[in-house]
Amino acid sequence: MSDDGGSAEIRHDQARWSTNGTYEPLLSEKDSTEIAVDADTAGLPDELTRDSVELPNLSESELSRHYTRLSQQTYGITSGPYPLGSCTMKYNPTFTEDVAALPGAAVHPDRSEGSTQGTLELLYRLQGYLARIGGMDAVTLQPPAGAAGEFVGIRVAAAYHEHNGEGHRDEVIVPESAHGTNFATAALGGYDVVSLPSDEHGRVDLDALEAALSENTAALMLTNPNTLGLFERDIETIAEMVHDVGGLLYYDGANLNALLGRARPGDMGFDVMHYNVHKTFATPHGGGGPGAGPVGVVAELAPFLPAPRVREADAESAAEPQEADSPDPTTDSTGTTYELFDPEHTIGHVHGFQGNWLVLVKAFAYIARLGDEGLADASAKAVLNANYLGSQIDYEIPYGPFHHEFVASAGEQDAADVAKRMLDYGVHPPTTKWPEIVSQALMTEPTEVETKSTLDQLAAAFNAVAEEDDATIEAAPNRTTAKRIDQTSAARNPRLSWQALDADDE
Ligand SMILES: *Cc1c(COP(=O)(O)O)cnc(C)c1O
Repeated sequence: MSDDGGSAEIRHDQARWSTNGTYEPLLSEKDSTEIAVDADTAGLPDELTRDSVELPNLSESELSRHYTRLSQQTYGITSGPYPLGSCTMKYNPTFTEDVAALPGAAVHPDRSEGSTQGTLELLYRLQGYLARIGGMDAVTLQPPAGAAGEFVGIRVAAAYHEHNGEGHRDEVIVPESAHGTNFATAALGGYDVVSLPSDEHGRVDLDALEAALSENTAALMLTNPNTLGLFERDIETIAEMVHDVGGLLYYDGANLNALLGRARPGDMGFDVMHYNVHKTFATPHGGGGPGAGPVGVVAELAPFLPAPRVREADAESAAEPQEADSPDPTTDSTGTTYELFDPEHTIGHVHGFQGNWLVLVKAFAYIARLGDEGLADASAKAVLNANYLGSQIDYEIPYGPFHHEFVASAGEQDAADVAKRMLDYGVHPPTTKWPEIVSQALMTEPTEVETKSTLDQLAAAFNAVAEEDDATIEAAPNRTTAKRIDQTSAARNPRLSWQALDADDE
């Protein structure tokens, strides 16, 4: 990690060069044409107007090839297997895109309730699907990502404690092996973070939990199966211990893919959870979103959820004439009317309107298409695939039995080098160096969408790299457009406008 801005910028720019010497120029490098501006600028100050603008003047075929070449320089779920543990990088079936592209899905968010009954019904039914899948009583669809859902969940927990005159609770307990967002959420929510060690089997250490719990505990955040893919067998005891001191149990839903249709966080004693719609429910993932991180809660917490939510209008209000933008308001087949409402003690708005609507449409389409049986089948195959892959690789897997993912150890090798070398074998590597409880961690989650032959291809890549010497893996990757990018510096010191590189910089 280097804070040396200058050289980091150059490295960042070099990422556009491929190792085999091909470079895909920017559109503005391919062509720059002065195009006269023909606009009425009357009344605008002179310094804000111009007569011409330089733009690339290219044909549609040139544009199409440019973007196709760029897409070929990246690796996505449509390129090959993507076993990035914890992230659940599963293939997004295109029928969900077809549903999101239906003309009826293009709704202006300011339209009235009366003219958007179909939209509200979809949201209402999705709230219900998610509540049922998670064993929760009420759901908000607003948060735009898992991490945002965590924040909302912890704010809801805080509002609940505050409302009960227990605002003194100032600690959130987070297992050492948790996702970084859990620690960040607790801290951002204004809590002191109490870190919880794992026992020798990789699960919650009950003695350590006992010691951490007190009348200051606001919540314990857990994922189950945990980040090692292990089911917390003592979850009912854990829930009891947390509830006994008046704390709440938070479920990080990122690993819900292991439980879908089989076990429900609500039944295990969790009080509040988020769902990573872009992980579990096959909506596109990565590249910065958009995603969705709905939050489900038990009945006691429902009055604190963000506003607005959707409900069936009661008979009284349904009888009142609806304000309508269009003379033909869409109603559902049963004639039920839906309305937005603010929960009684709401923590307020956390996103514009209803959240990332089209992402929610895709999640709805996915759940509706799979149904109960399909969801249970997805989790069965996710677990089967992880266990088959785990049985085929030569790297040691210290903890088990695991479910939808496992954490292997790269042993004497550096996990980051292993990951870079796997790219040369044409597959995406696993998540590396996390959780830290496994040294040189290779956190691997194949998901249910891969076939046996793809899993065999993945295993072959793991096993080929396992045999290689340090010099070979340290030199990798050799076949990708970009080699090793200094991502930290690129993120901290981004170049937000294009400047041609000087010959000296290359
Ligand atoms: C992905 C993930 C998150 C955060 O979810 P985002 O949707 O990426 O914000 C939280 N916890 C775990 C365990 C995760 O894998």
